[in-house]
Amino acid sequence: MTTTTVWEDLLVGDELAHLATEPLREAQTVPIPDALHATLREALALRGIHELYAHQAESYAAARGGGNVIVTTGTASGKTLAFNLPVLDALAADRHARALYLYPTKALAQDQARSLADLGVAGVRAAIYDGDTPTERRRQIRGWANLVLTNPDMLHIGVLPRHDLWGDFLHNLRFIVVDEAHVYRGVFGSHVANVLRRLRRLARIYGAEPQFLLASATIANAGELAPALTGEAAAVVESDAAPRAERTVALWNPPLLDAELGLRASALGEASRLLAGLVGRGLRTICFAKSRKSAELIHRFASDRLDAATAARLAPYRAGYTPQQRREIERRLVEGDLLGVTSTDALELGIDIGDLDCAISVGFPGTVASLRQQWGRAGRRDHGLAILVASEDALDQYFMREPPALLERRVEAAILDHANPRVLDGHVAAAAFEAPVDEQDAATLGPEALERAPHVPELRHTARGWVWAGKDAPAPRIPLRSTSPDSFLVVDASSGDVLGLAERERAYSTVHQGAVYLHLGRQYLVRELDLHARRALVEPFDGDWYTQAKKETETSIEEPLRVERRLGLELSFGRVSVTEQVIAYQKKAAADGSTLDTVPLDLPPTTFDTEAVWFVPRPHQLEGLEAMPLLLSSLHAAEHSLIALLPLWAMCDRWDIGGLSTNLHLDTGAPTVFVYDGHAGGVGIAARGFDQFEGWVADTVELLAGCPCERGCPSCVQSPKCGNLNEFLDKAGARTLLTRMSNSG
Ligand SMILES: [Zn+2]
Ligand SMILES: [Zn+2]
Repeated sequence: MTTTTVWEDLLVGDELAHLATEPLREAQTVPIPDALHATLREALALRGIHELYAHQAESYAAARGGGNVIVTTGTASGKTLAFNLPVLDALAADRHARALYLYPTKALAQDQARSLADLGVAGVRAAIYDGDTPTERRRQIRGWANLVLTNPDMLHIGVLPRHDLWGDFLHNLRFIVVDEAHVYRGVFGSHVANVLRRLRRLARIYGAEPQFLLASATIANAGELAPALTGEAAAVVESDAAPRAERTVALWNPPLLDAELGLRASALGEASRLLAGLVGRGLRTICFAKSRKSAELIHRFASDRLDAATAARLAPYRAGYTPQQRREIERRLVEGDLLGVTSTDALELGIDIGDLDCAISVGFPGTVASLRQQWGRAGRRDHGLAILVASEDALDQYFMREPPALLERRVEAAILDHANPRVLDGHVAAAAFEAPVDEQDAATLGPEALERAPHVPELRHTARGWVWAGKDAPAPRIPLRSTSPDSFLVVDASSGDVLGLAERERAYSTVHQGAVYLHLGRQYLVRELDLHARRALVEPFDGDWYTQAKKETETSIEEPLRVERRLGLELSFGRVSVTEQVIAYQKKAAADGSTLDTVPLDLPPTTFDTEAVWFVPRPHQLEGLEAMPLLLSSLHAAEHSLIALLPLWAMCDRWDIGGLSTNLHLDTGAPTVFVYDGHAGGVGIAARGFDQFEGWVADTVELLAGCPCERGCPSCVQSPKCGNLNEFLDKAGARTLLTRMSNSG
């Protein structure tokens, strides 16, 4: 029904940076395996499923063979059935068998519970066990359910410390399903990796050896993610046999208004033009923006471009809608009453709103996996259209010039480090609370846990191993989204709701008094930062400015761990200590980034230990750049552009990375560039940069060579989080240095 000619005339002009069509792909199916339990076959037949995609059968066979499996096929490829088959098969055959499903959010657990209920396999008793489960239901679920859906926080605080209540369940635990596994990366992933190790240990204590079944969006390192998360190797199933409709992919770059400054037209304006154009042609379109404010502006601008009748068929879609409100919007979309929806990323994680014709992503959402998930909404059955509208961010602009880096190369890796002592120590304490920790536990908790045990306060060594000598359970004191036990609470003063946690190292630069704080796409203004109560009071904010902190940073090298000759210089990876002091902040206009005001702040310095990659350029690589301030400006610009591109290699946010460049560093006695992990202890980001240094530098050279600006702009060397407010940046010098390095390889 939909044909490309419908949108052809819309996708013209200089803005179109790339246009390609991903071909239709036929399904590869295989018969339903004979071994599958009759009850399950019947349930599938009732739903019209008479054959499987090849990857579903492959996962089933691998799991039936007793091994762990990670499935990483594309969006909407039937991954759910791939791990449900072996689990439901086992539950149908053995009424004692138990399975635990882990979901990163409550909403996703609810979706999965619904689809399990729809499948209606006799003998499967599924139940959600999370913070919303009423106390009186909990006991019943523990005794009755053979498939429990929960989330990492509940497992960490509610299940593992009370394992005595779960003895029967753990004794019979056959499968642990970890869906959306790519979400478990960075700090959160490092914690969840320890929670899963504690679960495996307890299962073993109760006499069970459960298998892990993981499902993940497409990433570069599925074979590494599974053991990093669970401590055990897994078979990787990655050849996608699901059918796919043809999809046109367009990369759209807002026009350059000022080439010298690298200033472009607003991505929101371009997105609203495209949205209005597509909806005006009767195409069902979803538009994803990074913040609620942006989503609302796109909605408003698009409505203004349309006649009243068509504009009435547009709607914003927000996180925080009740399930009823969500379903109402879904129903209107399916029935064609609604044509256009603007949303924040809240929709991104798996929640189904049916088949649409077009998806517009406004600004690169941070990972290729997220972008693919957003695009996956478009044209599941008919020819679809997926568009990325670039922001001025360096990574967005890099993709506009190097489309294969986005569409063909697969470099993005989900990384974590369960052995970071700042993460691990708390879990060693929690494990000791759950049962004494001895040498045998190295097999499940990892040898690092035994090494850390003597350093964990409140643990005592006894004949039974390391035991908990503290008062209350340690787990509730360990937040899963922070590496710092003394994090700051961010509280909405208008409602009293806790919005989140800010690690001390970052609190001073992100939730200082007067800061504009973004949470789930909503803006808040920080009214007060209480250093003693470790609390930031915020209120909803509707202003048209954002804030940027000015800070002084120092690093000192604690211990180089790996030193290699790479790209003609000495490249190091190791432990550093970082001291930061936030001294002021600037208010900047949302419209054009101009400075409205600079406000001094009086905050104490913070110091944290982390991991860094650093290098000292050789004299010949700096030839002609030696004079100050050119030397410093060149190093500083190189540091910024390197940081901008590291998320392409290590799945993380630019805000997870810090940097420092100096013309003379006390420890090296020479000009030095540091790029460090922004989380205390490090979660593997700097390590990945060390491993992939050559590719990372080569990408950065391309970024600098391709940016059309004259002397540096937000799309190349300027950084939205620069502590020096983007002073002292020399694009040409950075390009010279990095090119010389790259050529030395
Ligand atoms: Zn530029
Ligand atoms: Zn900077």
